[in-house]
Amino acid sequence: MKYTLVIEVDHIGVAVNKLDEAISLYRDVLGLKLEGVHVVEEQKVRVAFFSTGGETRIELLEPTDSESPVAKFIDRRGEGVHHIALKVRNIEAVLEEFKRKGLRLVDEKPRVGVGGAKIAFIHPKSTRNVLFELCEKP
Ligand code: ZN
Repeated sequence: MKYTLVIEVDHIGVAVNKLDEAISLYRDVLGLKLEGVHVVEEQKVRVAFFSTGGETRIELLEPTDSESPVAKFIDRRGEGVHHIALKVRNIEAVLEEFKRKGLRLVDEKPRVGVGGAKIAFIHPKSTRNVLFELCEKP
């Protein structure tokens, strides 16, 4: 078994209804450090990243539109853990490898995420209902 495809868990994405209230929980109650808030137009979300002190961060995602995939997720399943993001070195090669191994890809080609990272999602139908995001930092 090789573990070279994935370097580490980059972040855990959490879907929330009200970002400002959720920020208070994560920053003021849990004591995590807020790194920044961004709007991702393409996904129709506003996101906040928190440092946990280690390599793994927490991303809160608030839908900015009822058509946002995150809004649909919250409608179906409520607020909560939305995805696990895995850091990889060569996202195109990893997508190719996962596809070859039978995983269904949401994104055949990576798109550009926050901070210029290349990201792509794996369909949760092929990963036991866990939505995985792959990300390659610039
Ligand atoms: Zn993410």
